[in-house]
Amino acid sequence: MFDAILIEKDDSGQTVSKSQVTFEPLAEGEVAVDVAWSTLNYKDALAITGSSPVVRSFPMVPGIDFSGIVSESRHPDYKPGDKVILNGWSVGEKYWGGLAKRAQVNGDFLIPLPAGISMRQAMAIGTAGYTAMLCVLALETNGVTPDVGEVLVTGATGGVGSVAVALLAAKGYNVVAVTGRASESDYLKGLGASSILDREELSGKPRPLNKERWAAAIDVAGGQVLANLLSMIKYGGTVAACGLANSMDLPTTVAPFILRGVTLKGVDSVMAPKAARQAAWAQLATDLDKEKLEAIIKTVEFEDVIDVAPQFLEGKIRGRVVVPVS
Ligand code: NDP
Repeated sequence: MFDAILIEKDDSGQTVSKSQVTFEPLAEGEVAVDVAWSTLNYKDALAITGSSPVVRSFPMVPGIDFSGIVSESRHPDYKPGDKVILNGWSVGEKYWGGLAKRAQVNGDFLIPLPAGISMRQAMAIGTAGYTAMLCVLALETNGVTPDVGEVLVTGATGGVGSVAVALLAAKGYNVVAVTGRASESDYLKGLGASSILDREELSGKPRPLNKERWAAAIDVAGGQVLANLLSMIKYGGTVAACGLANSMDLPTTVAPFILRGVTLKGVDSVMAPKAARQAAWAQLATDLDKEKLEAIIKTVEFEDVIDVAPQFLEGKIRGRVVVPVS
């Protein structure tokens, strides 16, 4: 039996508790991992609070990320003692996830812990940071370089946003950090933002086009925020969109695309192929300033994750949450 956070659901609704769970014997291709570190992401908060139907089967152990050490393996790529990480693949939504002392998953979902980072640092990065890297790579693939102009990052004090600001600044970009929390300006400048933009400026009713301001953007918000920033992206610019912290809607027109040649590039981390994941993690291991990474970490004890999760939805979490599991 292992300690786990367990989400259960019956006719009276959803309950979440710290419980004891057990696993079936390992099936062919599966790997058992002693979880060392996990994290809390926005999606974990949605699962734990039940405020959005991200959990697709009950009972469910949440946790879309973990790092740990292989204890048993029936997969040819892994043996006991290997250090591994997991992000996404519907773990914590459809398959039991990382907020437990032990995880048991399809070995194809794992990647070896990248050289140069610890298991704790890997979870400080987590799905949010790995998604930030996928967004940066999406901009670069589309020809965005530091000399083309300022790059906007929305939800800048959040997990994806904080890592995106640090990564872009390290690469020499002028980063405009969009935040609803003016009190966090020093934090954002410490991560490398050149300037701060109040989220309110992107919250009005969007017009099809506005004055051109930024060369590119990484957006975690969607909704009116994304619609407004699209109307202000410079000719030929690119926006990498990965989130819906503002809304699932996108109240825009085709004007930015057909009159300014703007590219809207969707970014998904959950089902990203292994090669793309490993490329992103290899760059994270080398390019992300470890001191800046330390500055964004908040540690939440395993016993406290159920209480802390709602704070994501209240916009009270800054940076990345790591959870020591064993
Ligand atoms: P966090 O909660 O850490 O950060 C979200 C940030 O968004 C907040 O800190 C806040 O930043 C900003 N924000 C909050 N409410 C609003 C609002 N109403 N309008 C605009 N901005 C708002 O979440 P993550 O960084 O972990 O995730 C961000 C988004 O990206 C989520 O929607 C998540 O589901 C999505 N995501 C998608 C992935 C994918 O694979 N596509 C992977 C990872 C995340 P501030 O106060 O600075 O404005």
